[in-house]
Amino acid sequence: MRLSQMLFVTLRDDPADAEIPSHKLLLRAGYIRRIGAGIYAYLPLMWRVLQKVSQIVREEMNATGAQECLLPQLQPADLWRESGRWDTYTKAEGIMFALIDRRDQQVALGPTHEEVITYIARDMIRSYRQLPLHLYQLQTKFRDEIRPRFGLMRGREFIMKDGYSFHADSESLQKTYDDMYIAYSNMLRRCGLKFRAVEADSGAIGGSGSTEFMVLAEAGEDEVLYTEDGKYAANVEKAVSLAGDGEVSPFTSYEKRETPGTETIEKVCNFLQCSPTNIVKNVLYQTVYDNGMTVLVLVSIRGDQEVNEVKLTNELTKLAANYQAKTILSLSVPDADSQEKWATKPLPVGYIAPDISDDYIKPAKNIANKFLRLVDQTAVGLKNFVTGADISGYHVVGANWNEQIKLPETIVDIRKARPGDRAVHDPSQILQSARGIEAGHIFQLGTKYSQAMNATYTNEQGEEKPLVMGCYGVGVSRLAQAAVEQSYDKDGIIWPVAIAPYHAIVTVPNINDTEQMEVGEKLYTELNKAGIETLLDDRNERAGVKFKDADLIGIPYRIVTGKALKDGKVEVVQRATKQAQEIPLDEVVSTLQNWIQEAVK
Ligand code: ATP
Ligand code: MG
Repeated sequence: MRLSQMLFVTLRDDPADAEIPSHKLLLRAGYIRRIGAGIYAYLPLMWRVLQKVSQIVREEMNATGAQECLLPQLQPADLWRESGRWDTYTKAEGIMFALIDRRDQQVALGPTHEEVITYIARDMIRSYRQLPLHLYQLQTKFRDEIRPRFGLMRGREFIMKDGYSFHADSESLQKTYDDMYIAYSNMLRRCGLKFRAVEADSGAIGGSGSTEFMVLAEAGEDEVLYTEDGKYAANVEKAVSLAGDGEVSPFTSYEKRETPGTETIEKVCNFLQCSPTNIVKNVLYQTVYDNGMTVLVLVSIRGDQEVNEVKLTNELTKLAANYQAKTILSLSVPDADSQEKWATKPLPVGYIAPDISDDYIKPAKNIANKFLRLVDQTAVGLKNFVTGADISGYHVVGANWNEQIKLPETIVDIRKARPGDRAVHDPSQILQSARGIEAGHIFQLGTKYSQAMNATYTNEQGEEKPLVMGCYGVGVSRLAQAAVEQSYDKDGIIWPVAIAPYHAIVTVPNINDTEQMEVGEKLYTELNKAGIETLLDDRNERAGVKFKDADLIGIPYRIVTGKALKDGKVEVVQRATKQAQEIPLDEVVSTLQNWIQEAVK
């Protein structure tokens, strides 16, 4: 392609609405343009990158025996009602774009395709002989993200590869899951990315787990905890660790103490001269279940620990049946306004006790009349502890479970693992922290969807069984931008060769110089013929501008038909290293072929 004929517009300055380097660079280099919040046009250079990523994804998927298909983006609401996700996706999370068509039917723009694929499986899979089966597609997904940001990283319209596998049993699922683990690792490696596969939260579905593939970058929205021995890595949402040892309590007898102005753990510790590990901290949450029931949740946890709200959400989902519900719609820390809605009198905020009276809750049909009391494991073993006295300005000290205060029935593990904690698999290993961009997520679904939607098969014994499922997603457009986030310098993008929009750019410093132009044209033709995807900068611009633009758009190899021509050579510059060397004209094609081959190995 000739630059003189391309829509080639680069910006000198950083666009105001871009925060992270990759977003700024893709805008400046003319790869993308913002059309609306979380909505982007992929311009020709970007589209080439996306197609290269897609091709690598396809090759790795096909190598596992998965088959490509294309599912509809418009999805009838009824399918989502069958799976029970219509309300969660349209109301609770509100992530699904839903609309009403001219027939007055509700439809949605697909954010994901478990419902559609399960419908197909229900219709078409009859027997164990048809299993296992794995279908995938590459497609634009729609999600009404609350905070679309960072360009393609979190769009409201983005390209995903999603695949769904069906199995007779969990061993078969495990095998495909393991294959996907390898396929995903291959995809990211081939795209030239530094990444880490980490244990991830699977929500309340359970199953035997899920793995996220994190591209390592400072701008990543996710935190990963890992150990140096390489044996443990998990998303902080899922991570486990050993809590540090607590200190022996300085209190030996139970007493109520006036502790004015001590609403925080730090202030209590200062006032009472004790360690945060001597305190039982009580954190109040409010959750709404999908049947509209509001439940007040009191979590008791050791004072030096924090609650992991993802783990808490999972526990609350498990308890949904106790409230005749299936799932939770929201979880929040009730502020003064929401407290007023259900509290009979002002709560002793900052001084709440684990056994706070249920009388604080107004009788109402859609509010559970008792606190749901959960205690984290870190608080269970405490002796002579300090905790709120349920009166503003007072704590109790020297308290013991089941002597003065009843131990809550439900014991849970919902503390947040933190960098610096000791690892569970080997206490001599200390958790380290890194930031990552989630590029892919593989997931053992089990029978959640097949059971809800009644998708079954007949096994060898003639019995009807629910299909066992897995699902596997990779964010193609996010991954492409993540590559830039990992690879750039002050002059612009440095594309990994495998996904660069073009391999090479022939820069003609002065198009009015006939020899420069002729050699440029010739190399341009020869390189393309040899399969080296090459641009020709034949614009009537100053050489400096052309060099700057070539650096900005990040093409791996730049060939300059300049001064060296007098010796029958051209200058070839590698974008990543800025290394320049003069190469005889007749060796340019073979040299580049070698370099490219080496780079995409
Ligand atoms: P996140 O936690 O980042 O919102 P997710 O858990 O919702 O991601 P999945 O539903 O597992 O993501 O989707 C599979 C992949 O699609 C993700 O790993 C990610 O690469 C990509 N993806 C998800 N949401 C977006 C988005 N809004 N914009 C771009 N890519 C996305
Ligand atoms: Mg999401």
